[in-house]
Amino acid sequence: GHAQPATAAAPAPAPAEGAVLLNFNECPYGPSPAAQQAARDSIAGCGRYRFALAGQVRDAFIEQARIPADHVRLYPGSSEPLNRAAVLWTGPLAGLVVADPTFETLGEVAAAHGAHVQKVPLRDDGAHDLRAMVAAAHARPTGLLYVCNPNNPTGSISPPDELAWLLAHKPASTRVLLDEAYLQYSEQPSLIAQVAQRDDLIVLRTFSKLYGMAGLRLGVAAAHPDRLRELASLGDNPLPVPALAAALASLRDPQLIPQRRLQNAKVRQATIAWLGKRGFSCVRSEANCFVVDVRRDGSAFAKAMADNGVVIGRSWPIWPQRVRVTVGTEEEMAAFRNAFAKVAGVPA
Ligand code: PLP
Repeated sequence: GHAQPATAAAPAPAPAEGAVLLNFNECPYGPSPAAQQAARDSIAGCGRYRFALAGQVRDAFIEQARIPADHVRLYPGSSEPLNRAAVLWTGPLAGLVVADPTFETLGEVAAAHGAHVQKVPLRDDGAHDLRAMVAAAHARPTGLLYVCNPNNPTGSISPPDELAWLLAHKPASTRVLLDEAYLQYSEQPSLIAQVAQRDDLIVLRTFSKLYGMAGLRLGVAAAHPDRLRELASLGDNPLPVPALAAALASLRDPQLIPQRRLQNAKVRQATIAWLGKRGFSCVRSEANCFVVDVRRDGSAFAKAMADNGVVIGRSWPIWPQRVRVTVGTEEEMAAFRNAFAKVAGVPA
């Protein structure tokens, strides 16, 4: 097992009181003020399932995504359709192809269901090696191919033309799960509209990241209605009402994405520049996390950071000397720099 599990739901060691948390790629700003107000106002109505409110959220979402209503289904977080995808579309005769490193939950669920998991190392520039992933999918029976775009932990991104190449060259029977959890942090357009054209692409989105709603739980699966029916066949799970209310307020705020994207990029770039000046390189990121090469054991480094009040993310076996760091507020990143300088023995 893992000393520090990758799954969002996994129990983590309790951080020290007042510690700066840069370990789970959460949004340090939380739900927007309007979303918080809407969630509070919704509490009195929480004795009901509020299916109509879910319909309103879906309609607001499809209007922005420009896809038909029957191509979208809401879930309490994107983890749920992700887990269901592994259960449905992988198994002993249908393997999984993923990048290495990437968000590991899908691979863990697939492996638990008897699927062979092929891990394809990222390219030297940190991006997914989509050509090698397609080759891997042709080399063995492959039910599902996972692309996390931007990738967790690196924040690296594959441009639309490379993703189009992947869709054109993968085995016909292999489905592609495109996880766009962090896409709102980048300038790149979503591929979500493609689900109206093909039945082998499932796109996941979440309100947990840029919208700051990780603890409220709302996510979206977009796909051909047949794929959505398969996902739904594993059982219904009604949606949390405060999450629906907050999601609607978030979708109706046209400033939220550009504002938070800009703020995140500014803080991320300043932090990466600070690290670079001290000789620590990072994989190019377009998300709210990045991977830094600490040039020594990453787990020990993260432990020393935690001892200095800053909890950072973990290492991946393929990169034992690199650690993932979530982009926090300017204040949190000042604390990060202080702790990093101390632990690495470089000027603050
Ligand atoms: N996908 C990726 C790439 C993630 O990093 C996470 C959470 O860390 C998830 C999906 C699941 O998030 P949630 O279930 O909160 O939507």
